[in-house]
Amino acid sequence: MSVVANSAVATEIADLPRIPVMVPWLGEEEAEAAAAAVRSGWVAQGPRVAEFERAFAAEVGAAYGVAVSSGTTALHLGLVVLGVGPGDEVVVPSLSFIATANVARYVGATPVFADIDPATGNLTPDTIEAALTPRTRAVILVHQGGVPADLEPIRALCRRRNVALLEDSACAAGTLYRGRSVGAGAQVAAWSFHPRKLLTTGEGGMVTTDDAEWAARMRRLREHGMNVSAADRHASDKPVLEAYLETGFNYRMTDIQAAVGLVQLKKLAATIAERRQLAARYQRELADVPGLTPVADPEYGETNYQSFWVRLVDSFPLTRDELLARLAKAGVSARRGIMAAHLEPAYADALVPPLPATEALSLNSLILPVFHGMTGAQQDRVLAVLRAAAGG
Ligand SMILES: *Cc1c(COP(=O)(O)O)cnc(C)c1O
Repeated sequence: MSVVANSAVATEIADLPRIPVMVPWLGEEEAEAAAAAVRSGWVAQGPRVAEFERAFAAEVGAAYGVAVSSGTTALHLGLVVLGVGPGDEVVVPSLSFIATANVARYVGATPVFADIDPATGNLTPDTIEAALTPRTRAVILVHQGGVPADLEPIRALCRRRNVALLEDSACAAGTLYRGRSVGAGAQVAAWSFHPRKLLTTGEGGMVTTDDAEWAARMRRLREHGMNVSAADRHASDKPVLEAYLETGFNYRMTDIQAAVGLVQLKKLAATIAERRQLAARYQRELADVPGLTPVADPEYGETNYQSFWVRLVDSFPLTRDELLARLAKAGVSARRGIMAAHLEPAYADALVPPLPATEALSLNSLILPVFHGMTGAQQDRVLAVLRAAAGG
């Protein structure tokens, strides 16, 4: 990299604190809620988990919520209740966090990668259709970075082709499709509460569904396949003999986590409003910067801007990695764009069709800082680096 021309400016910038790409918005209220759970003596899955499930399911427009240990374990249980197993194919985007593809392997199925719409980063009816075979049992649809996928035509396609649809909504708490939560009307949707997402419990996840039997089975599966929950057994005044109906897992969430989640849930709307304001400012200010295309709402919905990415087009004078280095030097933590699972060693042996849109977006995009409390001055600093790099 070339030496920054104006060393006085460089020194000044280096003295400023680094601008993070994301910070969870946690405060005293979460700390108090976690402390109250500890003081209550009930720290494992209990009444707070049940309350968090009800509140979260209502928030995303689903009848049932089943809290689990992560977004990944939520996806795993989703595939199990959808009946996906050995010999089946599961259509997934490669452009996603790698867990989306991995969970197909957890149940002995084969992930089949499909390409995306470069504008949204999501699967489309056409890219899904191109990947369907007689062995396709399910599709995992991701709302990437919080950008809603075009749900109606995709749900219709899956119904028509008799293929199950698991919605990977890990990034999409608060994301809207035609004015409603993306969770509304989902067969099964999986959510993550990792600190990189907008609502965090440290680690954690949730499966939502309108199907009572699937919800009941997932409640058992997360607890070793037990037909009576530990909470119900403890609450009963009579001895309760549990049975283990099938091989389950320990995918439980703790009441400490759920206590934090209940506070976080109340802040979700404010978090998203703030992120949408920061995103709108990036979009306005970058409109006249040549060679950079920021992510935006699709016409049918609203993203929560969990990730705000910009795509570099060919005319941009720097490569993506050079631009990342420029930002880092100016004290800005940006990140490479969404990963492409098929480019990782774990998928070196997979049969991969051409995925031109996936590779173009993954390799030529980066994620800019957006976080609670980000100041105008911090955003100015990010924008100044981008403008200077574009030669404007
Ligand atoms: C974060 C994420 C996951 C995994 O969630 P964890 O809670 O980290 O297990 C899965 N899919 C997508 C699209 C994600 O962004």
